[in-house]
Amino acid sequence: MYPFSYTKASDTREALNAGHRGGRYLAGGTTLVDLMRETVERPDTLVDISGLPLRGITVTERGGLRIGALESMATAASNPKVRSTYPVISQALELSASAQLRNMATIGGNIMQRTRCTYFRDVTAACNKRDPGSGCAAREGFNRTHAILGTSDACVATHPSDVAVAFAALEATVHLLGPGGERTVPFADLLLRPGRTPGREQAVGKGELITAVEVPAYPRPLRSGYLKVRDRQSYEFALTSTAVALHIRGGVIREAKVAAGGVGTVPWKLPAVERALVGERPSDRLWARAAESASDGARPLTHNRFKIELLKRTVERQLRIVGESE
Ligand code: SF4
Repeated sequence: MYPFSYTKASDTREALNAGHRGGRYLAGGTTLVDLMRETVERPDTLVDISGLPLRGITVTERGGLRIGALESMATAASNPKVRSTYPVISQALELSASAQLRNMATIGGNIMQRTRCTYFRDVTAACNKRDPGSGCAAREGFNRTHAILGTSDACVATHPSDVAVAFAALEATVHLLGPGGERTVPFADLLLRPGRTPGREQAVGKGELITAVEVPAYPRPLRSGYLKVRDRQSYEFALTSTAVALHIRGGVIREAKVAAGGVGTVPWKLPAVERALVGERPSDRLWARAAESASDGARPLTHNRFKIELLKRTVERQLRIVGESE
């Protein structure tokens, strides 16, 4: 470890001022503290925001759901409103990390967490995300878990969050508060593909805080769920995953929301799959046909070509599970 200062913000204004001066926000600390121990991150100042009033899960005027950024993953997952209206969110959270981590980690922090690329966390390895211009050890190294979608020559790391995949599928909105006031960002615009600047991962300004995530209302009934495929059944990141939400009425799919995880540099929305589903009647043939386009545009690396087929099968299976559930 190395020297840094720590301050606990007593209110939002104090936090924003400290953040604007360059302080790093600390909530659950389950990612940032690890990265500091490994000297991947070396902030001068930590601003503890865990005492700010950014909790609460409420139904919005339009019938959607607003989840406070400082809700823990565990409390959000077990919340009755989340469970009953968007099981895909509860499932994504419960399939993440470990019980201990879910008790500490927050919704905002989970979205903002940094990649699990092992080379990023190894300060002796070349990594454009950690050290711009140094290269990408993963490109020629062991890249079995890396991304096949949204990659660039500079970086091929996946975004590790599960619940972000659910939020992407449901087309959530993120509420931000900064020195300039409040603003909202579509979830799809919050997390950035690496391009030439993989070190810039979120469209969040200096000193801005995520205050809440808002999920829009959908026609009822809405069936939804999350499927995660990984090397072991606990405490492991996704090789592939998918979040699916379907509104089926009169035997016809009226709305379909689908996104994939474990394969993209950001949570990967699957509009071609969605288009293939809407207006159709559920059937095994439909699930297979719709899933066929899940990997469109994939650029596999040396060790992760298997993800192309695995993603299609993951999506097909989850479409069937959700589409045939009651
Ligand atoms: Fe770094 Fe990205 Fe390459 Fe991993 S994939 S080593 S995070 S540049």
